[in-house]
Amino acid sequence: MPVVLRAKCIVVGDAAVGKSAVCQVFHSDSSHFPKTYTMTCGVELLVKTVNIPDSKDSVEVCMYDSAGKEIFSELVQKFWDHPSMVIVVYDVTNETSFSSCQKWLERVRCQKPELQPVGVLLANKIDLDQRRVISPKAGKELADSNGLEYFECSAKEMENVDSAFYYLANEYYKLYQETVNQMQSLG
Ligand code: GDP
Ligand code: MG
Repeated sequence: MPVVLRAKCIVVGDAAVGKSAVCQVFHSDSSHFPKTYTMTCGVELLVKTVNIPDSKDSVEVCMYDSAGKEIFSELVQKFWDHPSMVIVVYDVTNETSFSSCQKWLERVRCQKPELQPVGVLLANKIDLDQRRVISPKAGKELADSNGLEYFECSAKEMENVDSAFYYLANEYYKLYQETVNQMQSLG
């Protein structure tokens, strides 16, 4: 019997870093970059199934695309309990969005400190190379110091958006398998 796991993936970061664009590009198999900017109010839910290589199993990733504006922060945090995955997004041309990542992580962690979700730090808008102010090195260091995996992408160019989600789905699946193996070894 194929196993289908369902994972809650919360996507956080400052307003306008590209959270909704990243979710929509991944959800649409890189066929849709939103042409008009609509501000996310609260949380939008998008679901996409990721097949696990060399198995018949899959992970259903439920993306909780959260609003980044402070006025929504109390509302959106109500949706964050028991996340299985977290993606912290920043804009490589925006210093403030990078320094905010720590704040977003703390907000996620204070939800359920006993269950650490698998996490990714996602540097978006790498197509704007001329205006880039946050280097890959700085991004990688922040990710390492927080136990996150580092990825870069451009939602606009639909470049490398999937990698972060595939990584998370595979890690989540590995955790599941480890748990199953532990249970079986207990008899
Ligand atoms: P959110 O507030 O974090 O959900 O951000 P949005 O997804 O709504 O995007 C905010 C703005 O950034 C929009 O005008 C997008 O078109 C733009 N944007 C998103 N991703 C990219 C990207 O990879 N490159 C560029 N150049 N612009 C982007
Ligand atoms: Mg949004």
